[in-house]
Amino acid sequence: MDKLNSIPHSRAQMNGKQVVVVPAKTVINFKSGFDKKGLCDGPTFSTGSACAYTCSFCYVPAVMRRNPHGLDRSLKHEDIVVRRENSVEVLRRQLTRANGSPRVTGSEEAGRVVFSSPLVDVAANMDLVRETIEACRVIMELTPWTIRLLSKSNLLPKVAEGLADPAIKHRVIYGVSTGTLDDRLAQAFEGGTPRVSKRIQSIRWLQDNGFRTYGMICPSLPLGSQEEYRVFARECAEKLRAERMEHVWAEVINVRGESFERTEAALRTAGFDREADRLRSVSLGTPDSKRAWEDYARWTFEAHAEVYANSPGKLRFLQYVTNPTRAWWAARGAQGAILL
Ligand code: SF4
Repeated sequence: MDKLNSIPHSRAQMNGKQVVVVPAKTVINFKSGFDKKGLCDGPTFSTGSACAYTCSFCYVPAVMRRNPHGLDRSLKHEDIVVRRENSVEVLRRQLTRANGSPRVTGSEEAGRVVFSSPLVDVAANMDLVRETIEACRVIMELTPWTIRLLSKSNLLPKVAEGLADPAIKHRVIYGVSTGTLDDRLAQAFEGGTPRVSKRIQSIRWLQDNGFRTYGMICPSLPLGSQEEYRVFARECAEKLRAERMEHVWAEVINVRGESFERTEAALRTAGFDREADRLRSVSLGTPDSKRAWEDYARWTFEAHAEVYANSPGKLRFLQYVTNPTRAWWAARGAQGAILL
């Protein structure tokens, strides 16, 4: 395999944010819990802990509030990029026994899926593209796993080009995530991400060039009527060419606390008052608002389920349930509902 340039860890800035490099003992999490979402069979890997993008709804700042890297508390998570020092070497170490042999072997490991990343975008710039390629190559060298990559970048084809050798090409599944097809709306509540239309072009390029793909239609916002959800689901399937995808995940927006305030404010700042009002109306916590939230989730699910009705197993709709709502969702597992 080609020798890639080593990854520069000393850049002061990445996507306009300050880069902080932290020592790290791990890059792979062998028991992540992401198997509950159907995204992997347990393991995930992450070469960083704070993303180069700044989506208003991102859950990672809340996860990182306990400050596992002991960072200066004056640094706000969303304002910095956190990279794990020598991440590819750490990954190799985690996958290798003391005698140098691979740690992850055996027929039960073959075909297991590892997901990246639960914490950052894997292709937000070319440095991260190169790092992701190196990490994937180490995983493919030392394990029989399949790798699932998720990104909001249009640079995913660059990762694919680095992993296009026919001997390994089939071991990676690529997905781009978006909760809207509207470039302006996406720019309002994501942050620093490439346009959705560019992402769609990139997933189509991957499909046209024989790479495995999946969809991630999330986080999608509340709409005005049940029919609007149907139109949205159909348009997403068409634009993403879902018929060529192995699976399609979908999820409504789950914003809480600061991420709710950030998202509502971001929508209003960009002039999307109607969208901000709808989001507020389903998030107030009152009995009416809770019912509206449940309608929003159910209508989103039903719209996607209708699109994939003839493709059993393709839709994986992620839904946080409560005691009163659990039974409704549990009855729809065959249509793709995954209860969280
Ligand atoms: S791309 Fe993902 S990880 Fe990065 S800020 Fe957006 S939601 Fe968070």
